[in-house]
Amino acid sequence: MNPSAESTQRLLTELQTRGLRLTRPEQRHMVRRGGAGPSDHQPVTVDGTTVMVPIYTESAWDSPFSVESLTDGEQIIQHQENSLIPLHNVSFTSEPRFYQGKTADGIPYSHIATLHGRDVLATTILQTCIRYESRKKACKFCSIGQSLRAGRTIAEKTPAQLAEVAKAAVELDGVSQMIMTTGTPATPDRGAAVMAASARAVKAVVDIPIQGQCEPPRDSSWYQVMKDAGIDSLGMHLEVLTQSVREQILPGKAEDTLEDYFAAFRDAVAVFGRGQVSTYILAGLGDSAEFILQVCEQLIDIGVYPFVVPFVPIRGTPLEDHPSPDAAFMESILRPLGQQLYAAGMTAETGKAGCSKCGACSTLSQYEQAAAAEASDSSGRGQ
Ligand code: SF4
Repeated sequence: MNPSAESTQRLLTELQTRGLRLTRPEQRHMVRRGGAGPSDHQPVTVDGTTVMVPIYTESAWDSPFSVESLTDGEQIIQHQENSLIPLHNVSFTSEPRFYQGKTADGIPYSHIATLHGRDVLATTILQTCIRYESRKKACKFCSIGQSLRAGRTIAEKTPAQLAEVAKAAVELDGVSQMIMTTGTPATPDRGAAVMAASARAVKAVVDIPIQGQCEPPRDSSWYQVMKDAGIDSLGMHLEVLTQSVREQILPGKAEDTLEDYFAAFRDAVAVFGRGQVSTYILAGLGDSAEFILQVCEQLIDIGVYPFVVPFVPIRGTPLEDHPSPDAAFMESILRPLGQQLYAAGMTAETGKAGCSKCGACSTLSQYEQAAAAEASDSSGRGQ
């Protein structure tokens, strides 16, 4: 691999695990705050690659990375040990234009859906969850109730509101895909019904690929219902893998074991196709790198894309003081995983929509591209 591409990849992986310090007050306006998903991350684009970087977390205050402005106005990210090359061509995502809009019933568009990464529209359809209400059942990393309590979102987004915002976000900001996640309701469809209704409404007004994210529905016929409604890809997120770690980190969700998820994945892949079903895996919460890689291999075998991301704590959650994994741990997973995904022909590029396609929360797609470059180098040398 080209050595500078390799060092940039390493720096991005480290940046994503250590975070970025904004040292001067005038830098604070460069990033936007709040929103769905990992809200203490902020999108940072380096040489055309957008990565979500922790900025407001505790550990980010100790990060060796800081932003500097050169005299010509260019922003660079510098590592405090000068031996490392600074990252050039750095930019921060500005507030999208659709945030200025309001629905017919007066709700700001930014309370319905937010911009993720560079060009992804993300929404949490139901901002409440059966598990979140109970301390014993709640996933310890989850912050689904925080933005609701802070008045930055509403408890339930209607299909009509989502359609209105999606149309505006495509027209005003050129978003390229939509991700719909949801807190889990008390019904056996586990959110599949609202997901289908929302996708149907969005697809009726704008042609945009959609990923749905929910817990495995009790009845597998929901996969076809979601697909027919316009969901292109489905995410069902394991988050952590070892059963004892699952019981500790996500006590409610752990009632569904790895085996239950694998059964659900097979049913979903039969409907959505290979590579269009994915799962989010948070590295750094107790699973070993070996076990993560072992499970990822089994997932790839059955056509599921394992999106492995470094755990980043969110303030106000029980895990707010839990450290992120270090870059060496992430590299020990992402490098072989990128090679396996490339070899399987199942990469971020081949997904129609979803976190794997956005790729901002993990540098995994960089490792897939590195594997592709290595393969083309060695085939070139063989000629
Ligand atoms: S990878 Fe997923 S969670 Fe992360 S920014 Fe992209 S859409 Fe949001």
